[in-house]
Amino acid sequence: MHYSEVYNSHVVTPELADIVRRMPKIELHVHLEGSTDPQTTYEMARRNQVDLPVSTLSEWQAWYVFKDFNHFIDVYVLATSVMKQPEDYVAMVESYMRTQAEQNIVYSEVYLSTSLHRNKFSIETILDALSTGIDHGTRRYGTSIKLIPDISRHLASEDIEAQEYVLEFALQAKERGIGIGMGIGGKEIGHEPEKFTHIFAQAKEKGLRVVAHAGETDGAPSVAGALDALKAERIGHGVRAIEDNQLLEKLRTSRIPLEVSPQSNYCLGVVARDTPHPIRTLVDAGVICTVNTDDPPFFSTDLTNEYLTLAAQGFSLDELWQLNRNALDAAFLSDDERRIYQKTFDDFEAAIPGL
Ligand SMILES: [Zn+2]
Repeated sequence: MHYSEVYNSHVVTPELADIVRRMPKIELHVHLEGSTDPQTTYEMARRNQVDLPVSTLSEWQAWYVFKDFNHFIDVYVLATSVMKQPEDYVAMVESYMRTQAEQNIVYSEVYLSTSLHRNKFSIETILDALSTGIDHGTRRYGTSIKLIPDISRHLASEDIEAQEYVLEFALQAKERGIGIGMGIGGKEIGHEPEKFTHIFAQAKEKGLRVVAHAGETDGAPSVAGALDALKAERIGHGVRAIEDNQLLEKLRTSRIPLEVSPQSNYCLGVVARDTPHPIRTLVDAGVICTVNTDDPPFFSTDLTNEYLTLAAQGFSLDELWQLNRNALDAAFLSDDERRIYQKTFDDFEAAIPGL
């Protein structure tokens, strides 16, 4: 969805659009499976003889027009089920890193919906394929990623073994140097954060960084649960925190960043298309926000488009740059790694008059 197709009140100049396109960016909320375009998943389905509820590519693409969040999850799960060969994972990562480079994204932390890959292969086989894809992508495109394996909450909230599978996967990914943490995603309503308290405590104790989707389809109590029960270090989405002033204050003082994805929110009906995005309220309340795509081809977006969505709603270039700086600060990088990207950001800032 193009930025001009949702609420906008400001003209985006070509000069501003060009600066946003060229600026080095960091992204913290993007799903690997959700970054694979419909044509690729359709071809994988045919190659791997997976039955789809459609018979042509155009019908498959039409199926990606989301009616609501549950329909989106159904499409997402089916699109992930077509990945049947280790080579599919290699191709998925390489394709992701190519589009990352095209948008000048120098580094991203990428969710892998690990619950959906359980029982396909051994953990080692999947991690081998992902490592190969990351090696190829790094060499070919010069960008960098770290994985955050996440638990699909609707598949695991009553299933401890399913939670433990993702923890084990996340630990092995970290051991190999390609993973950094663990998260939860999937259907939020009915699968409260508190159901994952124990597994998150274990993940933290074993050295993983922890994040949680919350406050997207469910309200402010879900965000509070992610903070209190899960000790989440960042919140995926979190936009419905605006429903509770005390929670906003808690986010402000704790400096827990939100991973905001405007076009995803518009596409899934979390925010009405004819209204401004609540990120303005969050930023004005002093909450640290970052800008992200979530599932770019699913929502016909990319990271430049997300920033321009905000520009069209009155965010200045300085504010957009600050949101990008927030992503650098909020990334789970070592000090040495952060210094490298800091230099890239500083160099860009110095080259743009007025930044
Ligand atoms: Zn997400």
